[in-house]
Amino acid sequence: MSIREILTTPHPVLRGKAKKITQFDDELNALINDMIETMRDAPGVGLAATQVNAPLRIFVAEFGDENDADAPLRLYTFVNPKITKTSRETVSGVEGCLSVPGIVGEVIRPHAVTVTGFDRDGNPITVAAEGWLARIFQHEIDHLNGVLYTDHALSVWESEGEVSQVSSAA
Ligand code: ZN
Repeated sequence: MSIREILTTPHPVLRGKAKKITQFDDELNALINDMIETMRDAPGVGLAATQVNAPLRIFVAEFGDENDADAPLRLYTFVNPKITKTSRETVSGVEGCLSVPGIVGEVIRPHAVTVTGFDRDGNPITVAAEGWLARIFQHEIDHLNGVLYTDHALSVWESEGEVSQVSSAA
């Protein structure tokens, strides 16, 4: 495993549409392992493959429970993720991005989403997420489509020092 360089704006790969994975092989597993290590090192709560210069439809996320600080972190790996259900209810939150350092911004997103895709072995998976987990998933899937949160933020401002959990970078 190794830590990969995280691209920052205005790198053009961050603006491209990532390609679908068709082969679940050792190369894919090595990339996913590197992404997990890179996300943890950053540290961040999510990372899309495009952010490490691999324009492929993969993201990883690691998050516990926003309502329970003692809840263990859960690791999610999605290959070819797709949002299959979106709540009508929306919620505002403050996001940061490892690829857009130094700022955070307020973004309104659906409160809940269901994401389907595949795990690293090619098994189909579906996760119904709400709250911060749903926000992380949407932020990462945006990355795979070349979209940054700053594109739809109501406002952005300079972040002061360490970002808190509610503005964790992804
Ligand atoms: Zn991001």
